[in-house]
Amino acid sequence: MKAEIISVGTEILLGEILDSNSQYIASRLPPIGLDLYYQSTVGDNLERLTDAIERALQRSDVVLMTGGLGPTEDDLTREAIAATLGEEMFVDADAEKALRAFFSARGVSFPERNVKQTMLIPSATAIPNPRGTAPGWWVETTRPDSGDRIIIAMPGPPNEMQRMWEKEVEPKLSELAGGGILISRVLKTIGVGESHIDEMVAPLLKSLNPTIGVYAKPDGVYLRLAAKAETAQAARDLIAPVEEEARRILGEIIWGADGDELAAVVGEMLKARGLTMATMESCTGGLLASTITDIDGSSSYFKGGYVSYTSKMKMNLGVSADLIEKHGVISSQVAGDMARAARRALDSDYGIGVTGVAGADAVEGHPPGTMHIAVHDGRAPEGISYTFYQGRLATKRRAVTTALFLLRRSLLVHKT
Ligand code: ATP
Repeated sequence: MKAEIISVGTEILLGEILDSNSQYIASRLPPIGLDLYYQSTVGDNLERLTDAIERALQRSDVVLMTGGLGPTEDDLTREAIAATLGEEMFVDADAEKALRAFFSARGVSFPERNVKQTMLIPSATAIPNPRGTAPGWWVETTRPDSGDRIIIAMPGPPNEMQRMWEKEVEPKLSELAGGGILISRVLKTIGVGESHIDEMVAPLLKSLNPTIGVYAKPDGVYLRLAAKAETAQAARDLIAPVEEEARRILGEIIWGADGDELAAVVGEMLKARGLTMATMESCTGGLLASTITDIDGSSSYFKGGYVSYTSKMKMNLGVSADLIEKHGVISSQVAGDMARAARRALDSDYGIGVTGVAGADAVEGHPPGTMHIAVHDGRAPEGISYTFYQGRLATKRRAVTTALFLLRRSLLVHKT
């Protein structure tokens, strides 16, 4: 079955809000065997909306819409569907009663224009929306030229839409789609570039089911194995031997799979060995500590972190003035000493130090994106230095990923 998504709203069209609904829905379609061919965004305009629905009905079996179900004049999704199908809207008496009760239960007087949200057309049934006031519409129609079609209209607010999708829409669509199910497995690697990974797994890339894709992400290079089969289990069985082979080829550069996060994976490694860590960061401004503490349970291994932006603060925390003098504050030596000082100050097993240039201007002759990162485990510092500027925030994020990668590498090398 072919599907397409239409997101409705002028604010999305103008880029004022991100169309996360389309992204969400798109990601939910492959596992239930629906093929997504088109996505479009239309503003709050009856004529253009009607055009978009008409076009979608000509080429897609299922049209998935979000937004425009509110009570105001510019919420036009229902009107556009009715106009496209040439049907009259009517008030659904039961729905109206329920909506009036909803308002009175909250002690709020009923705005008469909300009656609009209880309207239906003969080919539509209401989809319950316990999180909001606008039910969705499930519309089944037969087009003389193109056959059976389904239009599903869901509310714009993502929390309402997602609940409706999960509880009401997806189960029914999945049953109707009946065909193949696409399951994907993502293996996450770090430390080796995209083209090199591509070469390493070249023998696997010929595979048609699962298909294999290699792509770069902020936290490393991902390998996506996607298999289509009658059932989810059959798809997983197709993936398993290819995943095994990929793991054999790539070994320890695979740090996780699917929803795994690098900070959590590294945290688990520390936890498993009863080890602790501390950080001293400069140009990342606390992002490293923040990323580490995004993980539940990080208090069992993270002792704390310093944001030592100035040289003076670094020295106050025990970083060697001589090293700063000799090599400059942006240097691998100072990163190593920051890692040592953090480790010692907080009496932890590992220390991480980060110093560099996150901004767009050179500092002390070092170009934007210069980065020195070090890990200290009480023996000698191990470090990585590079220069790669991608804008301030992305540069900081890359440094954090690299720091976690370095810590993981150290934990893998020094098993005791
Ligand atoms: P309401 O009853 O709240 O008016 P609605 O179905 O009419 O709901 P819209 O008015 O189009 O939906 O959008 C309401 C809000 O939902 C928007 O302001 C926006 O915050 C969010 N929203 C709408 N569409 C999307 C989308 N495609 N992606 C993410 N958020 C969206």
